[in-house]
Amino acid sequence: MANPQTTPGPQGSGRRKAMKAKTATVTGKQRISPDLIRLSFSCPEIIGADLPFSDHYIKLLFVPEGADYAWPFDLAEITASKPRELQPVRRTYTLRTVDTEAGTFDVDFVAHGDEGLAGPWAQSADAGDVIGFGGPGGAWKPEADYEHFVLAGDEAAAPAIFAALEQLPAGTTATAFVEIATLDATFATPTGEGIDVVWVSRDGATHGTKLIDALRQSGYPTKKTSWFVHGVAEMVKETRKFLFVEGGVSKEDASISGYWRLGMTEDQWQQSKMEFNAQNEKEEQALAGQ
Ligand SMILES: Cc1cc2nc3c(=O)[nH]c(=O)nc-3n(C[C@H](O)[C@H](O)[C@H](O)COP(=O)(O)OP(=O)(O)OC[C@H]3O[C@@H](n4cnc5c(N)ncnc54)[C@H](O)[C@@H]3O)c2cc1C
Repeated sequence: MANPQTTPGPQGSGRRKAMKAKTATVTGKQRISPDLIRLSFSCPEIIGADLPFSDHYIKLLFVPEGADYAWPFDLAEITASKPRELQPVRRTYTLRTVDTEAGTFDVDFVAHGDEGLAGPWAQSADAGDVIGFGGPGGAWKPEADYEHFVLAGDEAAAPAIFAALEQLPAGTTATAFVEIATLDATFATPTGEGIDVVWVSRDGATHGTKLIDALRQSGYPTKKTSWFVHGVAEMVKETRKFLFVEGGVSKEDASISGYWRLGMTEDQWQQSKMEFNAQNEKEEQALAGQ
């Protein structure tokens, strides 16, 4: 049985606002591709919740090594009473599917090796394991005032991309670019009229580089288009230039952010994200002024 209770401490995360935490119990496990593990969860606390978006996400809570508490715990009390290094460590994951009548959801975890907390935890998780989480949050879904959607990301963003394909408004079309390790690592995708899934094979290249190449090659659709681009931060940086500087795409027509960053834990990435985004905007303004 995987134990989410013993982990390295949060690296650099400050004391955060407490959210009400819920319990998720693992009910099933499936390897849906060489690089993705789907865990099914039961969570009666989400029964009746209003979850209208396609990018709903949760914050899984891992108890740091040396802490004297274990799940279930009172998150508000722990947040108020424990020093920074003993606060729960959060890891963000998309609800690939959610059923608010049954109180169940699926999460697809990238099995990215032995480093980290959530990826390794998912690899060793078994039915019956329990974990606390905050959320769900969420903000985006395909809206009917667009004709076309371009969705792009690596394996970490595939759950949000595929959830969006399942919520396409009637009469709209979508192209989803999904970067995977090799073309042997594809997995089941939503299908339907107007849905085009393009697999982009990394083939040993740095995460995100083949994806931005594919987007550039594909160009800008002529239909009224909404963009959803998430995944490794370095790819997001280049895609912002492609959209906002080179393509003149309005920021209102794009949901775009880094889900993770090469060589950084989620704590390190979240801590540096504001500066990374500010730097990107500065570079974009400089390029636009040329
Ligand atoms: C809104 C949102 C939704 C997300 N949804 C999902 C989701 O549904 N499924 C999912 O798998 N991820 C998702 N992510 C990304 C996930 O939160 C990060 O990948 C996170 O860093 C994983 O935590 P970890 O404990 O496994 O690794 P960490 O401890 O954070 O990192 C350890 C090391 O692993 C590397 N690493 C982290 N993620 C990856 C990766 N995907 N591929 C290769 N190397 C990696 C890091 O760069 C670091 O070097 C989402 C992120 C956000 C912000």
